[in-house]
This record gives sequence, C-alpha cells and structure tokens, in this order.
Amino acid sequence: MSEKWIAGIDLGGTTTKIAFVTLNGELIEKWEIPTDNSNEGQNITLNIAKSIDEKLHELGKSRDSLLGAGMGAPGPVDYQTGVILNAVNLGWQDHFPLHASLEAATSLPAVIENDANCAALGEMWKGAGNGAKDVVCVTLGTGVGGGVIANGNIVQGVNGAAGEIGHITVVPFGGAPCNCGKTGCLETVASATGIVRLANEELAKEGASGRLVDILTANGSITAKDVFDCARTGDALAKGIVDTVAFHLGFALAAIANTTNPEKIVIGGGVSKAGHILLDAIHESFAKFAFSPVRESTQLALATLGNDAGVIGAAWLIKKKMDQE
Ligand SMILES: [Zn+2]
Repeated sequence: MSEKWIAGIDLGGTTTKIAFVTLNGELIEKWEIPTDNSNEGQNITLNIAKSIDEKLHELGKSRDSLLGAGMGAPGPVDYQTGVILNAVNLGWQDHFPLHASLEAATSLPAVIENDANCAALGEMWKGAGNGAKDVVCVTLGTGVGGGVIANGNIVQGVNGAAGEIGHITVVPFGGAPCNCGKTGCLETVASATGIVRLANEELAKEGASGRLVDILTANGSITAKDVFDCARTGDALAKGIVDTVAFHLGFALAAIANTTNPEKIVIGGGVSKAGHILLDAIHESFAKFAFSPVRESTQLALATLGNDAGVIGAAWLIKKKMDQE
C-alpha cells in the first residue's frame, strides 16, 4: 500500500499555500497559487482543487492518495455550519459556506479552521510546541493573531472568536484606535504597524535623536525591523520602543498564562524574526506579571516553522478527524 497524504491549505487574501503532508506531519511538497478574488470568490476552491490535481499528476499519484483537505481561512469560523464569517477581502459575501464548497470542489473530506488557529496547531504538532498539548501561540505580523490550545484542542469559543489575543486591551485609557473598533488593543502596540506607530510618536517629540532619526531622514519612513536593528546597536530611543512593546506583550501573555498555564507560549509572525532581543524583553515583563507557579512552568519560545505552520496545522485537522473516527 502506498503512503497516504493530507492536503494542507493556508488560504490568504493574495496567495494560497498548499502542501502535501504525511500522517507524521512531514512536508512532502509545498507550493503557492494566487488567490482569485474575482467573481465573488467563486473560483477559489475550484482553483485549489485543480492545483491539487495537477500536483498529484506531476508526482504520478491519484486523488486516492489523499485522505482529506484541511484549510486555514482568514476569518472566524462557525463550526456548526462550516461557514466563514467576515472574509470580504476574499470576495465572499458574509457567511460563505466554505466547508461545503471545499468538499464539493475537491471530493475530499474537509475540515476548516481559522488561520491563526491553524498556525498554532502547526507549531504544537511539529514546531516550537514540540508535541506539547497545552500551547498558546501569538502571531506578531501586520496585526496580532493568536491561538489557544488546551489538551490538544483549539479553544474555539461560543462564537468562534476565542484566542483573539490581539484584541486584549493593554492600554485602557487613551490608547490608539484598533481595526476591531476598540482602542488600546495589544495589536495597536505589538504588531509591525503598532511598533512603527509608537516609533513615529517618539520621533515626533522635540529633541528626538539617534539612529532612527537618521533612518527617518534618509528614507522618509521607518519599519519595525529598523526599530529592532537600532535597538540591537544600543540606540536608546529604539531600545525604549522595544521595551514598551515587550512590556505590553509580557503583560498580556502573563494574563493568558495565569488563566491557562500552558506548557509553552510560542511567539511567531514577521515581528518575531527580531529574535532574542524581543524574547528577552518580553520575558522580563512576563516574569513580573505571571504568578510564581505559572512563571516556573510556562516557557516562552520563538516559533520555528515560519510560513509552513499554517499548512502543517491545516493537515493536522484531518489527522485529528481520522483519529476520532
Ligand atoms: Zn482590537
């Protein structure tokens, strides 16, 4: 009997990542296709199915080689109906029946999940979580996403909105506006956008000096990476910004850890590429706000799978479904 694979799909607004993954979580093949948002997103699942067939053909395999298709999608999921909510950037009307559409297009059993939760499952299975069953993941990118895994299961919540770590209020008074409609969310200070905003605030102050000022003068703008690069060279203004970001992150993560006491908190996303300068600063704040049994047992770690976390986590959804049947 030839080896069976799972199709793991990470659906994004502009590109869709697809992979064939073994039941042990090993990546066999991974590739990307553009996401076609035209025609109210009617082609999205059809294009995915076609691409999967082409890749199988290329590898000399048939559709029978696949056990199912797991997908991470950029929006909250209604688990009862398999409907995705609020995915307007994909061209879909609110309440698109994604689960049914994916099963019809691929003729495979499908499972869908929110994309941040998929990344968390990927890190739990094959990444920094390293098989731990109680893991919290926070993704620091353009926004801040999260996933909370308790005893191997994603905490979904009554409306599919659990684990939205980015919308924990960390600045209760006078915070910046967030995309969710609130103010002072973690996302407004710990996303790449939030870090740049904080830096621009500091740079606008009278007497601001240092390397970031030079970069701003030379380039007309700065990036989150500039902030970390300058902090690494000891620049005081940049270090101050990293400390502020890490303070709020450590505060929010300690509150989550005091509630769930996970084995690991995995920090991923583009901003986490800053590495240990960020992790060490978060650790300091985390240690201050986590109470001692949690501080002694919950570890902070950098994500290790990068962009592959989503497709691996999506594949895990099918493995889990099979284990339950
Ligand atoms: Zn928010």
